[in-house]
Amino acid sequence: MATFRFEALKAASNRPPVAVSELGKKSEIFGSNVFNDKSMRQHLTPEAYKAVRSAMDQGTKIDRRMADYIALGMKEWAMTKGVTHYTHWFQPLTGTTAEKHDAFFETSFDGSDPVEKFGGSQLVQQEPDASSFPNGGIRNTFEARGYTAWDPTSPAFIFGTTLCIPTVFVSYTGEALDNKAPLLRALSAIDDAATEVAKFFDKNVKKVTPTLGWEQEYFLIDDALAASRPDILQTGRTLLGHVSAKGQQLEDHYFGSIPTRVLNYMRDLENECMLLGIPVKTRHNEVAPNQFELAPIFEETNLAVDHNSLLMDVMQKVGERHHFKVLFHEKPFKGVNGSGKHNNWSLATDTGINLLAPGKTPNSNLQFLTFFINTIKAVSTYEELLRASIASASNDHRLGANEAPPAIISIFIGQQLTKVLEELEGVSTGKLSPEEKTDLKLNVVGKIPDVLLDNTDRNRTSPFAFTGNKFEFRAVGSTANCATSMTTLNSIVAKQLIDFRKEVEALVEKDGLKKDEAIFNVLREYIKETKDILFEGDGYSKEWEEEAARRGLSNHKTTPAALKAKVSKKAFDLFAELNVMNHTEVESRYEIELEDYVKKVQIEGRVLGDIVRNHIIPTAFKYQNLLIENIKGLKDIFGDSYEELAAEQILILKKTSMHVNELNAKLHAMMDARKEANSLDSVEKMAHAYCDNVKPYFDEIRYHADKLELMVDNELWTLTKYRELLFTR
Ligand code: ADP
Ligand code: MG
Repeated sequence: MATFRFEALKAASNRPPVAVSELGKKSEIFGSNVFNDKSMRQHLTPEAYKAVRSAMDQGTKIDRRMADYIALGMKEWAMTKGVTHYTHWFQPLTGTTAEKHDAFFETSFDGSDPVEKFGGSQLVQQEPDASSFPNGGIRNTFEARGYTAWDPTSPAFIFGTTLCIPTVFVSYTGEALDNKAPLLRALSAIDDAATEVAKFFDKNVKKVTPTLGWEQEYFLIDDALAASRPDILQTGRTLLGHVSAKGQQLEDHYFGSIPTRVLNYMRDLENECMLLGIPVKTRHNEVAPNQFELAPIFEETNLAVDHNSLLMDVMQKVGERHHFKVLFHEKPFKGVNGSGKHNNWSLATDTGINLLAPGKTPNSNLQFLTFFINTIKAVSTYEELLRASIASASNDHRLGANEAPPAIISIFIGQQLTKVLEELEGVSTGKLSPEEKTDLKLNVVGKIPDVLLDNTDRNRTSPFAFTGNKFEFRAVGSTANCATSMTTLNSIVAKQLIDFRKEVEALVEKDGLKKDEAIFNVLREYIKETKDILFEGDGYSKEWEEEAARRGLSNHKTTPAALKAKVSKKAFDLFAELNVMNHTEVESRYEIELEDYVKKVQIEGRVLGDIVRNHIIPTAFKYQNLLIENIKGLKDIFGDSYEELAAEQILILKKTSMHVNELNAKLHAMMDARKEANSLDSVEKMAHAYCDNVKPYFDEIRYHADKLELMVDNELWTLTKYRELLFTR
């Protein structure tokens, strides 16, 4: 019997829910492990508090002396909560978070005078041994220095007994080695660009903040079951496994009642989130069995990105307490829905206005249209780059595979706004007559709030949809660090707003148009130019693929193909102009992402090979021996007529042999393809080779293994099956 599998199943099905005690009212515990405004006021001198606040709000620098005071206050606050260590918390280009803990504790060289120490220099800058983080060739080994620098815009927090200080990670020469540094630069670029445009409508606007509300989808699997699957353990997904008879076809899981064990996990997780100041709000079952979603209240983008990275960490840690393994992979199981991380995005002014929400007056609605149409224009110009920003080996299983959304970037805006754009397209060129202006204000722009009220026909197949007061970028993968997509989205919109402002100002200065006339004129042209990116139909259909090709939209189904747009002239120019990333930084990221792709597919290939050799084939042999014994016995008893009696056994014996032979042949072919890919002289070539020559074997191998799973005695089968993974609660 397949002992490991059955022991895992026994453990999983006997698991009682882990009790969770409530910590108190959410509003009371919220942020209590965060060095937030309240704790800063309590623990900092007024001068130090002012310095941090102004660094947060205006991006001013904090001098070393002030940093000492801040560090002192931070340490005091942390020690009241039992903290013993501190760490610079950063997001290297591995896709996860990194931390190295140091104790506050120090002594003199002879061991006397033990004290808890934490000064400004430790707060502001650290030099982790950085040589083993990916850098895409930026740091030569002889200059393997990288340092982390405090990001005061994201507050320090306590996790366990460690004070975590969010930081950027940059090389000695100043190049970004992480996800945060370029994000902060992109956020600053869009702040500048959007503020200037917002001033067309309201002179009082001084700052525009991009907002982000992510929705995190995930699967929960009992950790004993996860441990019984070498593929889940090593790749985060199942590489094999016959689809179970019951999947999601009954649609009985979506929004269904949450199982107690899971609910307790969620409550525990939410408590942790509250302490950490992550404003989680929504929890529900998703479409697939054992799939769930968690969403927060939206926040400023840098903080929201940090919170998502932190959350993914916390989810795994809380999972351990409840014997759950959290699967963030975009496609852990064949045949049921995969997971995404919708990025809801908008722009907020310091005057309290959501620039992507229609307002009450014609002026505010023209402002809404301006930001709305400029976003469409930005996506239309840079659709390929936006696609590249969400490319990864695991997200390839969604985009352009048998899963939503497609690899084609298009925008859904709904019928009503489509109509509004059609009307604006008819606006006269140049100066507008008073009648036309009045008509526009009353009948087009002025009506937007009403038409949007019933904008309920939300299209779930669109990768980028307008949902009433924000855009929702749905193509982001569930494992992704939101920083990558948010850096790109905010950069392209920033660039677009800069161009827009120039065009409007030129019409005002050269052609003597009034400002609103100029805005209408520029928007009209944008509407004409961006029709191809708008799509309201079924994004999953074959017809859309054909139609999108006619429109000239990109449709890159694989990561190596999609990533290429990152190193186009258009991308280099964009990021350089905005000071988001220089040539070296862009190029190094391209290398790192290709490397990551190669490694992921390489690991999957190896794991698949191991499982087939060590599990599937030996199990098939065992079963064959049973069959052989049975056939021999029948022959002993019945003599010549055994063939008729053992017809089925003989057939299975032949079939299993055929599948085993095929498995062997394909495994060898895959290994040869891997060897060939490994011998190539650039990571770009390797990525393409892994994608085109290695990966296709995965499905072929799986086909035969899954056929064997259906034939072989269930008692012998060593790999935990789909029905067990998906329906054990
Ligand atoms: P869905 O129907 O797509 O599941 P939800 O209402 O669950 O949508 O999630 C919407 C998400 O959008 C939430 O995380 C919410 O905080 C976020 N959101 C709402 N308004 C904004 C905004 N102005 N900017 C960014 N995110 C927003
Ligand atoms: Mg959503």
